[in-house]
Amino acid sequence: MQDMKEISTIKEAKQWLKPYQKKNLKIGFVPTMGALHEGHLRLIRQSENENDITVCSIFVNPIQFNNPDDLAKYPRNISLDARLLTGNGCDMLFCPGLEEMYPEGKTENVDLEFGLLDKVMEGKFRPGHFKGVVIVVKKLLDIINPTNAYFGKKDFQQLMVITRMKKELGLKANIIDCETVREDDGLAMSSRNLRLTIGERQVARRIFEVLCKVREKGTKTPVWELREWAIKKIQEDSRFRVEYFEIADRETLVPLENWGQASQAVALTAVFLGDVRLIDNVELFL
Ligand code: AMP
Repeated sequence: MQDMKEISTIKEAKQWLKPYQKKNLKIGFVPTMGALHEGHLRLIRQSENENDITVCSIFVNPIQFNNPDDLAKYPRNISLDARLLTGNGCDMLFCPGLEEMYPEGKTENVDLEFGLLDKVMEGKFRPGHFKGVVIVVKKLLDIINPTNAYFGKKDFQQLMVITRMKKELGLKANIIDCETVREDDGLAMSSRNLRLTIGERQVARRIFEVLCKVREKGTKTPVWELREWAIKKIQEDSRFRVEYFEIADRETLVPLENWGQASQAVALTAVFLGDVRLIDNVELFL
């Protein structure tokens, strides 16, 4: 195993990758915003298993944050992240600064029509979020030019948006999805979990518990009734505030009114616990 190389400029990243690309070796890529946890590391290890070289990027992308406070409070710990990556099979860490990614604040717009996909749920409650995600992921894929790029189902809507972008733009990289990694009590791992108080952390499992119940109840209950039940159930504890809870078509993410409208569905939710916004989802078996 070689030592992990840390690189902060686009030019150096491309140069470092060139010999591997010349030899047609498989390059796996895991884009992240850092504050790494087991969820990210699972993606890294999957990439290590399926590729010759694994690259991880850490870039807290300001243009995908609609809330300045969320951006300011986003946890950052590059030296700890680098240590975790070294121990989990990452070969190169790409850590560009803001000026490197967006010189003079200029972003390269990606002009794509996503239908409802980037307008519902996260798109609705975080205006501009997916525009920022699409710009940064396109730019990073152009720089790294990977064989396989890894994304978690934890951010299910993001995964669908990126899959659509790949298709529409004919991007070369395979988009590989990875199951959500959870804490022992079921809470989806997230960098934002660090911001929960001890009391909030103890009750946070409720979100996944309700999602599981929804999966269990499934098509026996009408969609609208299930949705209302879930919102009420989560909010029974007054520390929780549901921003949205939807049952949607798995591909288009159009929210369902009847079970008959989709062959595959997913339940997705965003919930404030105190002032921390958490998202989670489960795929449903129809
Ligand atoms: P982030 O650093 O939050 O932008 O996440 C980077 C990548 O890791 C994204 O593809 C996420 O979907 C993925 N990810 C984050 N948390 C988890 C998790 N708990 N399980 C699986 N993948 C995750």
